[in-house]
Amino acid sequence: MTLPAFRTGFGYDVHRLVEGRKLIIGGVTIPYHLGLLGHSDADVLTHALCDALLGAAGLGDIGRHFPDSDPMYKGISSIILLGHVMDKLKDSGNWQLVNADMTLVAQKPKIAPYIDNIRDNLARSTGCSIDSINVKATTTEALGFAGKGQGMAAYATVLIWRT
Ligand code: MG
Repeated sequence: MTLPAFRTGFGYDVHRLVEGRKLIIGGVTIPYHLGLLGHSDADVLTHALCDALLGAAGLGDIGRHFPDSDPMYKGISSIILLGHVMDKLKDSGNWQLVNADMTLVAQKPKIAPYIDNIRDNLARSTGCSIDSINVKATTTEALGFAGKGQGMAAYATVLIWRT
């Protein structure tokens, strides 16, 4: 059976905020006194996007392809992982990204000044134009782990098409 030419995917990720780490969102280093903790650079937004892409292509999730037990991925830029994810989509069925929509959930700091830079990074890595990459940020009105500044969450949806 031939698969349809379009598929959607969804991704979700959470990382803890700690002292002594850089805050990297969508490949952009954002000045802040806390950063996200993880085996890689813990770029929560890019991880959600990777999971959405892998999900759309039926390729599982980021943990399966880049296990956090593997020293090769220690401290790695998640933008590089995103490039690997795009290669996997191409290899598995000539899938390309049509568009992505993402929401970062963070109480602080203000993300708005960095959003176009983030979109530019993600557009480059996925081979899309910047207008196909939408990034939103929201607080949770001080409720829950994100609202209390204990961590950040990110959601992503994508549409991919077979070229
Ligand atoms: Mg993650």
